[in-house]
Amino acid sequence: MTGIHRHADHIMAAIDNDIAAGHIPGRVRTFGDLHDYLDANDYLIDAQVPYDGTPATIDIIVAVQDEVTRRLSAPGRPYCTYGTCSYPRHDHTTTVGGDGEDLQQPAPMRCLHCHQPAHYDEKLHRYRHDDPTAADCFLIHEAS
Ligand SMILES: [Zn+2]
Repeated sequence: MTGIHRHADHIMAAIDNDIAAGHIPGRVRTFGDLHDYLDANDYLIDAQVPYDGTPATIDIIVAVQDEVTRRLSAPGRPYCTYGTCSYPRHDHTTTVGGDGEDLQQPAPMRCLHCHQPAHYDEKLHRYRHDDPTAADCFLIHEAS
């Protein structure tokens, strides 16, 4: 299993670099989430995870993906929020106040339903809570 961990180390370092570079948001919590933003298979190729189409290599790929997901979803892993996000297609601000009034200055976005910090993901066309473990409200933001 040490090979699995070595591959996962390599991929996590690449993911952290890509978050810092703004290619993916810090909110990703599973290997599958990565596919929302780029071709996550490139991480496997870059980490030289073996693949020849046999069941043995498929097992290795699944194990590496599971290990990456385990690390991404670990409690305490930082997620992006207002002031820390480097993903250019996230908007963690709003110009609409809590009572629906227009703000002069953009302010940190909060969910109008539960008041948790929130953002708009322009790539996914979705408002979401910053905290990836929080279930999203249906009324997260009443965008006009
Ligand atoms: Zn963000």
